[in-house]
Amino acid sequence: MIKDSIKVYNSLSNKIEDFKTIKPNEVSMYVCGPTVYNHIHIGNARPVIFFDTVKRFLEYVGYKVKMVSNFTDIDDKIIKKALEENTTEEEVSNKYIKAYLDACDKIGCSKDVIHPKVTENIEGIINFIDALVKTNHAYQSQDDVYFDVHSIKNYGILSNQKLDNLESGVRIEVNENKKDPADFTLWKKTKDFGKKWDSPFGMGRPGWHTECVVMINEIFGGKIDIHGGGIDIKFPHHENEIAQSMALYNHTIANYWIHNARIDLSGEKMSKSLGNVIWLKDVMVAYPPQAYRLFVLSNHYRQTINYSDELMQKTANEWEKFAKTYIALARRLELNDAKEVGTVLPLMDNFLQEMAYDFNTANAVSVLYTLQKKINTDLRNSNCSIKELSSDFKTYQDMLEILGLQVDFKALTSEEKALVKAWQQARLAKDYQKADELRNKINEAGIIL
Ligand SMILES: [Zn+2]
Repeated sequence: MIKDSIKVYNSLSNKIEDFKTIKPNEVSMYVCGPTVYNHIHIGNARPVIFFDTVKRFLEYVGYKVKMVSNFTDIDDKIIKKALEENTTEEEVSNKYIKAYLDACDKIGCSKDVIHPKVTENIEGIINFIDALVKTNHAYQSQDDVYFDVHSIKNYGILSNQKLDNLESGVRIEVNENKKDPADFTLWKKTKDFGKKWDSPFGMGRPGWHTECVVMINEIFGGKIDIHGGGIDIKFPHHENEIAQSMALYNHTIANYWIHNARIDLSGEKMSKSLGNVIWLKDVMVAYPPQAYRLFVLSNHYRQTINYSDELMQKTANEWEKFAKTYIALARRLELNDAKEVGTVLPLMDNFLQEMAYDFNTANAVSVLYTLQKKINTDLRNSNCSIKELSSDFKTYQDMLEILGLQVDFKALTSEEKALVKAWQQARLAKDYQKADELRNKINEAGIIL
């Protein structure tokens, strides 16, 4: 069974491993979500699309998947935006949460995801930090609370770094209040305009790295199967999540850590602060949203993608062909009043095997191309049985469903169906004048054949 033969590249071990879930037939999955102070760019959308596809695949092969992705709705950037726009942090975060969910919907992501917010979990976060302080894993220095990275044995296990090397590293914020430069902020005492909460450490706000650990424990009640996110948050965010969990729970949060690679622009890292970003919302205006999803899935998730308009246009053309094949096949079956649902073709096994080996969507998309070619051949072959076409359709539908690529297809009304059938008869009878008239009516009605 495919379900029992799944292999996953685990970022924690840097190895391909057999996928074994904690509970039989169930998968618990957490993906770090956005800080909601702006729209998302195409790079931010990559984990959203990829992990949604992982979820769809796992469900197809028989797992029940519980997926959680948080909203960071407390952050300096949100406060800054609220000040700039003369509004509240809540309005800023609500606006971008709505924009995010709309975008997810357009790119075909499942709505069956739990989205906890930081502001709704403050009490749990404060209690968690308090427990770290009480167990000497965290300390208060001046106004802030820091995690003491030397208080655990294996800080650096995820990013494969030794503390000695980290201390001279570049990505660590140096601050004289810290005992070690690698120590990270758990609580910031604040006096600014931003939202703040009372805590045993004074009025303030939590740092970024605690929320996911707390929410995972709150929602799943312990260790989970998959923790995912983009490679850019592997260090320090995920490293710091693991450190806190090791300190209090003595486990690494998840059995499988999965990180997707970046999407670059002209070979450079996209960054909102550098201003070289392409917004997902703009891409979804210029191209069908599904084309962007296909663009992401046409690459292996651990491979960096270099985005260009040329490549995107090419993928959009491919998507149009996929959609055309779908509509042509669906119409053929519809006009033949095919009732029977076909059985899945053996090609589906190839597709599932590609997905089962570390979610290789790139190879799965190649199998989809193979099927598309077969369907186009079958459609041209007047001897191809309706049963075979139904099987083509069922298989095509299933593959597209797993990839989350939905084709916009409108079934014909009975009048429309009668019109199309009359046109087909006129053509068969070689009554070209009538056929042309009917064809015009079909076009006027906006029916795609
Ligand atoms: Zn996180």
